[in-house]
Amino acid sequence: MRGSGYVIIGLGRFGSSLGKELVKLGYEVLGIDKDEEAVQEMSPYLTHAVVAECTDEEVMRSLGVRNFDCGVVAIGDDIQASILTTIQLKDLGVKRVVAKAISELHGRVLEKLGVDRVVYPERDMGIRVAHQLASPNLLDYIELSKDYTIAELTVPRGLDGKSLHDLNPRARFGCSIVAINKTKGVIIAPNAEEVLREKDVLVIIGTNDQIDKFEVAVN
Ligand code: ADP
Repeated sequence: MRGSGYVIIGLGRFGSSLGKELVKLGYEVLGIDKDEEAVQEMSPYLTHAVVAECTDEEVMRSLGVRNFDCGVVAIGDDIQASILTTIQLKDLGVKRVVAKAISELHGRVLEKLGVDRVVYPERDMGIRVAHQLASPNLLDYIELSKDYTIAELTVPRGLDGKSLHDLNPRARFGCSIVAINKTKGVIIAPNAEEVLREKDVLVIIGTNDQIDKFEVAVN
């Protein structure tokens, strides 16, 4: 087991997927839901799963919620329950509180309550899938700031056999290739002689504009 674990409140689609993954990563996870069926379904996957009404202060205290390092409020549709549960976690002194929001306004309320991180799973997944649909070679990306991104792109057939020197991304587009993921392993900070193969994965850092230009040019 790693750390003092996570308490996840609300075992809907988001909470249950999050809980299963954290257990796979080696963490202790207490899952709580007021719905008995949701708890029964998740209990084989989580360290502990209990049925409880999480807006109730006494219930939350008796479950020892404050002993967990991180609490995740994974209640979306019932905004009142989401807000009241968030307040309970904050009042109990849970060190890190993360909460799911279903709208900008819901998110703003959660921020005002002092949660450490608001997540918008539906909105963020929609944005991510849109980027992937618009650029077929894009596997994934991380926005470092408003302007800078790290993107993972598959090498298109047209670049098979070309070296980084031939491609010359820094001079042509301003972006840098920081790693190449090949079937035999990952090459970090590859040198100019490295030859690309179709289906290798390039990890590129640059401004959004530089990465867009790179993608268009190599396709
Ligand atoms: P998702 O979109 O991720 O499925 P939902 O908002 O539909 O999220 O599901 C939230 C879960 O949270 C449901 O299983 C519901 O029973 C549970 N839940 C809602 N309110 C409370 C509450 N006050 N106490 C405990 N669990 C709750």
